[in-house]
Amino acid sequence: MRLRKLLAMLAVLAIIAFAACGGEEAEVEETQEETAEVEETEVIDPEEDVQPEMTEEEKLVYVMENCICPQCPSWVPEAAEKGEGGYCAVGVSECIVDEVGCICPDCPVTEEMGLEWGYYCTRGSADEMMAEEGE
Ligand code: SF4
Ligand code: SF4
Repeated sequence: MRLRKLLAMLAVLAIIAFAACGGEEAEVEETQEETAEVEETEVIDPEEDVQPEMTEEEKLVYVMENCICPQCPSWVPEAAEKGEGGYCAVGVSECIVDEVGCICPDCPVTEEMGLEWGYYCTRGSADEMMAEEGE
């Protein structure tokens, strides 16, 4: 009778030990799956432009807010009175006629928009310049 009880206890212990080993394996498998998931996650290139494309309206607001034309030697007070600026986007000025220097290359808009020209106030917008080059 004692021997039977002892055997039964041993059997129970063996089952518990087996179950414990199986659990560890399952944990290891789970960890491997998680690692694989992390490896599959998309790698974002910091050089890539992650900003969504601006609408035309947003572009115009950005240009007007960042335009440095009022600091330019070609700028005239009448242009300020008329609320002008952002000529690279809107085209020629109604007031500026003399080209006595252009600081567009130093403007943040030039870099942000990839502009290559200047004197937009007297020669036309960036789109017009591009179109002229294409002719
Ligand atoms: S690039 Fe020239 S015209 Fe365009 S926003 Fe800058 S300063 Fe103004
Ligand atoms: S477009 Fe160029 S030249 Fe004309 S006001 Fe602006 S910075 Fe000066």
